[in-house]
Amino acid sequence: MYHVKCKQCDHKVDKDPIGGVCPVCEELIEFQYSSKWDTSESYQSMWRYNNLLPIQDKQNIVSLGEGKTPLLKSNVHFGSNIYLKDESRNPTGSMKDRAMSVAYSKAKELNIKRSIIISAGGAGIAASAYASRAGIENVILIPPGVSQERIMAMQIYGSEIIEVQGNIEDCLEVAQEMVNKYGWYETSTYKKANPYTIEGPKTIAYEIFEQLEEIPDYIFVPVGGGGTLTGIWKGFNELKDLNQINYIPALVGIQNTNFNGLEIALRKGYTKDNELHLIDIDSSLPTVTGAIRHSYVPDGEEALEAIRNSGGKVVTVDDEEAMEAQKMIADTDGLFVEPSSAIPLIAYQKMLNNNEISSDKKAVLILTGSGYREIATTLKYHGQEPKKFKTEECFNYLLSKDKQHS
Ligand SMILES: [Zn+2]
Repeated sequence: MYHVKCKQCDHKVDKDPIGGVCPVCEELIEFQYSSKWDTSESYQSMWRYNNLLPIQDKQNIVSLGEGKTPLLKSNVHFGSNIYLKDESRNPTGSMKDRAMSVAYSKAKELNIKRSIIISAGGAGIAASAYASRAGIENVILIPPGVSQERIMAMQIYGSEIIEVQGNIEDCLEVAQEMVNKYGWYETSTYKKANPYTIEGPKTIAYEIFEQLEEIPDYIFVPVGGGGTLTGIWKGFNELKDLNQINYIPALVGIQNTNFNGLEIALRKGYTKDNELHLIDIDSSLPTVTGAIRHSYVPDGEEALEAIRNSGGKVVTVDDEEAMEAQKMIADTDGLFVEPSSAIPLIAYQKMLNNNEISSDKKAVLILTGSGYREIATTLKYHGQEPKKFKTEECFNYLLSKDKQHS
């Protein structure tokens, strides 16, 4: 059971809104639930929380088994209370599957025939998979410079990929025209475009609460568009409203040093979307953290609210540190995540070194996506030729290793 309200003027909005802004005052809307906390549902996916998701009829759920990802205690030497939420286990290898499962379930509920999304990465791949599952024709607008491996991953599920020769603003113009004039359904993962996409990642908070059986002190989340961080914050707030927890963990957002819009906004005391638009970031700079390469943070307004209200902060990490973190997580924890997903570990380490966090505090790092989606980048930094031996040499080499350990 849910209803939809404007966060600013309390206007009661239609139950199935298209777009995330209030028709009266144009501020952001919000889904609110009157359901109880109920974990008795048998779904083997995040849909076990379906009574806290904005779908009216369970028959319309479009699922590929997203969510229910493991929470693993990390082995890294500098922290004994670090937990890794491994979102790379989702159907297309990223947490975006949670957002798309909700967005396309609603699309099915509204009998939508065509969807469109602007994406350079994970959201596009997830949208393509869920559109295919829902039987909906999908178009993905990409800016120039998206890698072949990502384009292939979007194409394989049958979406049409169009590179818009310009920048992200040009992509926005095309998508808005198709939505406003021709009724296409946009699934870009920010609230103004599609409010349902924020409801998916909040289930990460529910799962952490159930898996840890308590509330961590910190949640570390890489920030691209800001929707995942905002969603997780909403999840914890709902748990608090449902009397399941009595405090909200501090949310730490992590950005790339060169794509640090949220960090600048926090420093300057910005709170509104129009202020976020003023921040000038060079979107042409190359980076290994492609999944969070945003020159503007579309869900920044709510992400800033989440960070400020929870007592969190924004930490920035450069490309070298991201690659180092990727190797560290693979070496010590056995998880191969993409560089942009590994950066929470470096952020944690930086805060520890600056005495901004103590090692007895429980921290959950959200590992947002799989390393198998960034093979080319990883190969460039970490790829090594294997040793090559003839048979006899191989025996000798292995025996020398054997002696070292006995
Ligand atoms: Zn309003």
